[in-house]
Amino acid sequence: MVPRPGGSAMHYYSTRGQDGPLGYEDALLSGLARDGGLYLPAEWPRFTEADISAMQGLSYAELAGRIMAPFCDGEVDEAELTAMAQDAYAGFDHPDIAPLVPLQDNLHVLELFHGPTIAFKDYAMQFLARAFDRALKKNRQHAVIVGATSGDTGSAALEAFKGRDAVDIFILFPDGRVSPVQQRQMTSVIADGAHAVAVSGDFDDCQAVVKALFNDLEFRDQVNLSAINSINWARLMPQIVYYFAAALRLGAPARKVAFSVPTGNFGNVFAGYVARQMGLPIERLIVASNQNDILTRFFEQGAMRREAVNPSLSPSMDIQVSSNFERLLFELLGRDGAETARVMADFAATGKFSLPEAVMGEARSLFAAYRLDDAGTIAEIANTSRDDGMVLDPHSAVGVSAARRAIADGTLPDRTPVVALACAHPAKFQDAVEQATGTLPALPAHLADLMQRPERTHLVEASDSAVKALVLERK
Ligand SMILES: *Cc1c(COP(=O)(O)O)cnc(C)c1O
Repeated sequence: MVPRPGGSAMHYYSTRGQDGPLGYEDALLSGLARDGGLYLPAEWPRFTEADISAMQGLSYAELAGRIMAPFCDGEVDEAELTAMAQDAYAGFDHPDIAPLVPLQDNLHVLELFHGPTIAFKDYAMQFLARAFDRALKKNRQHAVIVGATSGDTGSAALEAFKGRDAVDIFILFPDGRVSPVQQRQMTSVIADGAHAVAVSGDFDDCQAVVKALFNDLEFRDQVNLSAINSINWARLMPQIVYYFAAALRLGAPARKVAFSVPTGNFGNVFAGYVARQMGLPIERLIVASNQNDILTRFFEQGAMRREAVNPSLSPSMDIQVSSNFERLLFELLGRDGAETARVMADFAATGKFSLPEAVMGEARSLFAAYRLDDAGTIAEIANTSRDDGMVLDPHSAVGVSAARRAIADGTLPDRTPVVALACAHPAKFQDAVEQATGTLPALPAHLADLMQRPERTHLVEASDSAVKALVLERK
């Protein structure tokens, strides 16, 4: 490792330049920076080729400890991080944790659906819950987490945080507007301190309530309110690990690998960018969008333009604005916080911004971008099932299609192995998969009885006072 200046512990700064330095634990517990920006480490820890070669043969948990240790330097050591990862992933239903499955020549699928809620959010959330618990207990604190979900994040969070002494969690979801499997995954969590809250309204109503609670400073301090959405740095950290795991299996550091990542809030693909900054030889990161293609248009045109959301078969990627994109923007702008703040203010005011050609040249050398609409998604699921015998969920299909096109159109050097991230189990999005293949995908064994499990839900109207009252009564 290249030592940081003075060999000091890792520090974090906001992308808008007005908050920091602070340590790993403070960045973890506060989530969003006070100036509205997102926290990033002061510099990227760097592994040499020899360091990466030495990772061959580590278990998934050991690899997690090795990769996350520099980000927690001086606060949590490698052995403890390994133990936390061991515990976090103990219940996953595959011994490899993130198995790599060959699809065709040079194309591999990284299955990230072996956790309790069968979407990749488990890989981060299971670790995050343990990180929160550890930090809060050490400081003899208790926190209340309130979050809004359109599906996968909420079920992963309730499953990870249930029964933890130091935390009570309340997840708001739009009643009847998430998939039946997603809804039951939340409402069947019956445990101390974990609350699925069905809001009569849509996802925006849920988000508005959460925002109002965070803006109520008195309430915020009274209950020690915390956030676990994807802007929390500690959610990105565990996602870096599976990029290393996959590349090592394909011959890194001797061989370069490309990744295709179904993208919504830009969290997962940014973790891939971090892996590259840490020294993992990544040829390209392929950004795969559905018909909500604001990111694809950005890489094509050099301009970000906000448009209305158009609901798709891959709802976890139906976004207007990618919250984590600000981290890449900060990097592309030479880590200039003032300039990042200016561009983000411009974007908030006008719904658009553009970047100079020199900056876009750099962006395009790192990323390629593709889009796939619903008809294409159904076709990809059908074809991959028929030709390769693999059933993809709609999000994963968007990524596999982008990977196939990047191989076919010469974007990647010949024979570069490509890893497409499979972000959810097909049974999580049964309707789309059945429409494509004619067969209803079965839930994995540990969820086989999900739809018969007893439920507990708090039904509330979409108002901050109603949710506040619920939190105060139940925390
Ligand atoms: C959250 C999610 C995504 C989008 O990931 P980002 O990190 O927001 O880009 C894609 N697919 C599935 C299944 C998800 O749950």
